[in-house]
Amino acid sequence: MDQPSSLVVCQQGHTVLYPAALDAIANAGTDLAFCIQCNCQQVHMVALFAGDGPRVVASGDMDLYARFEATGWPERIHTDEAGLFFYRELGSLDLALFLKG
Ligand SMILES: [Zn+2]
Repeated sequence: MDQPSSLVVCQQGHTVLYPAALDAIANAGTDLAFCIQCNCQQVHMVALFAGDGPRVVASGDMDLYARFEATGWPERIHTDEAGLFFYRELGSLDLALFLKG
């Protein structure tokens, strides 16, 4: 089993894990994003840009999940031994609009 990738997402230093396969997908040229919660119950939206490392692009409360759902960006599901992991493909323009809205 591949080790998951990890990322520090908040100022408290909480780390979240996501499938390393997502890094591979991003490195192969597909920008993608997912929402994930840390231990302080904050929701973080993490973007993986092609050829770049993961970045927290937005943080907020549960409302961020709803906004992320509402984007209509193509939903993808990665499945591995750890279970299902939902993410979405995005374009850089999509993200700019999301962050403005
Ligand atoms: Zn936290």
